[in-house]
Amino acid sequence: MTNPIFAAIAPPLRVLMGPGPSDVHPRVLEAFARPTVGHLDPYYLQVMGELQQMLRQVFRTDNPMTLAISGTGSAGMEATVVNLIEPGDRMVVGVNGVFGGRMAEVATRAGAEVTRIEKPWGEVFSAAEVAEAVEKVRPKVVGIVMAETSTGAWQPIEEISRIVHDAGALLLVDAVTSLGGVPVEVDAWQIDAIYSGTQKCLSCPPGLSPVSFGPRAMEAMQRRKHKVQSWYLDISLLASYWGEERVYHHTAPINMTYALHEALRMVLEEGLEASFARHLRNHEGLRAGLQALGIDFTAAEGNRLPMLNAVKIPDGVDDARLRKDLLNLFGIEIGAGLGVFKGKVWRIGLMGHASRTRNVLLFLAALEQLLESQGRPSVGGASIAAANAVFAQA
Ligand SMILES: *Cc1c(COP(=O)(O)O)cnc(C)c1O
Repeated sequence: MTNPIFAAIAPPLRVLMGPGPSDVHPRVLEAFARPTVGHLDPYYLQVMGELQQMLRQVFRTDNPMTLAISGTGSAGMEATVVNLIEPGDRMVVGVNGVFGGRMAEVATRAGAEVTRIEKPWGEVFSAAEVAEAVEKVRPKVVGIVMAETSTGAWQPIEEISRIVHDAGALLLVDAVTSLGGVPVEVDAWQIDAIYSGTQKCLSCPPGLSPVSFGPRAMEAMQRRKHKVQSWYLDISLLASYWGEERVYHHTAPINMTYALHEALRMVLEEGLEASFARHLRNHEGLRAGLQALGIDFTAAEGNRLPMLNAVKIPDGVDDARLRKDLLNLFGIEIGAGLGVFKGKVWRIGLMGHASRTRNVLLFLAALEQLLESQGRPSVGGASIAAANAVFAQA
């Protein structure tokens, strides 16, 4: 037995253009590296308070119960589900990709009687489809994914919210990929509970999950007959730490909180509307370039997410080899297809700090070269020219 001393961490510099994590801004990494203080240190409590205020701005809500769960986006999914659901409660979940499926699984484990409504991958739910399910099931909660990162489909929320509330149910929204990249209007759309993640459009490492609960959700939580099944994720306990009392619950991930604080400062410095416009412009540039290469999207026009471009791999292209070459020769990571899209789809992320014109152009140049190296006919730089034409207009 040997006990080797390993080399210090020295990760390669990547361009993270997959489904997350996305590129982290250096300012965020610098914030992360600041000295750790205690989780009840007056400085840390101040940072927590500022973080909550900034989260409310980004979620566009006045909800007092807005905080960051310790854990990645899936922890936010668990937290919202287990706090709203008691064993035997009925819940409708929209499943049109991996993450709707995950929410249904989490709800089932929490003891909900889950009704899955399904759509083919790449499609979204119409308000009428949700209305039909809600009328039939009469659920306590309806869960829906706004930005389905496995398919690139953009689910509209506002009309569904009205339908859910007319039926007396609560609306739970997955905004892991949408927050910071497209408008998310918690108060205007009357979303009752919502969760997100740090490593998609907020340009922060993975590790925290922003959540917010509205007044109807708070009431439902106060009326619970059973304790929340998860001690760690029980909002009533977390509220005593995030609220005035500052009661120890678990040790907060101090440095992740610094990182998210800086990431949110950057989002608000740029401005939410400017950030949405940037995500859209870079998506349009990428789309024009891909079109010049004959590459098509999986989601229908009008339902495509700007920050997650799921596209069909051209016939005859070796998926694994192309992604490996992209990584090894150009340092670019893109995402493979999941589930039914495995081997058929690439997921090109333009999230947060990764949503930059230079990344679009670098990616298109690399893709053109690699497609040619796999025997596809040359397009002579047409993808870059097409993207540049879009950027010139902007
Ligand atoms: C990434 C993602 C999640 C899960 O988040 P993790 O940080 O991987 O736990 C959930 N929902 C959607 C839509 C996502 O894109």
